[in-house]
Amino acid sequence: MTFPAHDTRVTYPSGALVERATVLHVAPAAAGRVAVVTDVTSFHPVDASWPDQPADSGTITLADGASLPVRDAVVAASDGEALHLGADVPVRKGTEGWVYLVAHLVDEGSAIAEGDEVEITADAAARRALSSGHTACHAASLALNLALEGRWSKPARTDTLGRPDFDGIAIASSLIEPNGSLDRYRLNKSLRRAGFDVAGLGDELDALAQTVSATVGQWVAAGSPVRIDRDGDALTDRRYWVAELPGGTASIACGGTHVGSLAELGSVAVAFELVDDGGTPVLEMRTRTGA
Ligand SMILES: [Zn+2]
Repeated sequence: MTFPAHDTRVTYPSGALVERATVLHVAPAAAGRVAVVTDVTSFHPVDASWPDQPADSGTITLADGASLPVRDAVVAASDGEALHLGADVPVRKGTEGWVYLVAHLVDEGSAIAEGDEVEITADAAARRALSSGHTACHAASLALNLALEGRWSKPARTDTLGRPDFDGIAIASSLIEPNGSLDRYRLNKSLRRAGFDVAGLGDELDALAQTVSATVGQWVAAGSPVRIDRDGDALTDRRYWVAELPGGTASIACGGTHVGSLAELGSVAVAFELVDDGGTPVLEMRTRTGA
């Protein structure tokens, strides 16, 4: 059994859905599945280190025309001796001697082997819905930073548009859904010590939603173009969501997929809720796109 010597090359950042590939490695995985690693893929995998965007759905087609459903796709890593999947990867990205790979999980017993030439296809409608939700998520997070600017009493780290980065400082988790997203922000003691005033926020959630929705609505109406910049084609090369917004060019480090323009979102509704997580207030922001 051989292990891939290089990171998987990925083409989903440019919007690719279909890719011809060579199978480099097949290994047993949990739950009656096998992991299939190829030299290149158009399939977006979930990354256990920041699992915001779920994996694409789709198929791997073999040379004889047989089509295998891909049950999941995860970021995996290998040190040349074993393949580690998802949360079982024992090292951090960039560790010397390790390569990072996209593992496509298919059913056990599938007739797929190292050396096979295959065609990988990500479902277009499912990709589009996740891309729409992810772009809405980033736009709303920047609009939220803008709306909360007046609540900072001390200088704070700033976001890509020069506003205090509430999103980057308080974010606990981010979940991209089809045509929407759910971000959770912890309003804890360290955030308050950093100079963020939480007083009365719970009574202003409707107004906050209107302000954030209006800002994102202006960016949608302006048809702000969105692209993904990347340092290279390898899975671990840094990638950035870049949006040409009316107020300036925004750039956020991001490994996900996106639509090509804010206009493609159609409309974005933003809603807030204040919930309690073991004594810590948590602000939840939901987005829903109308496209
Ligand atoms: Zn992102």
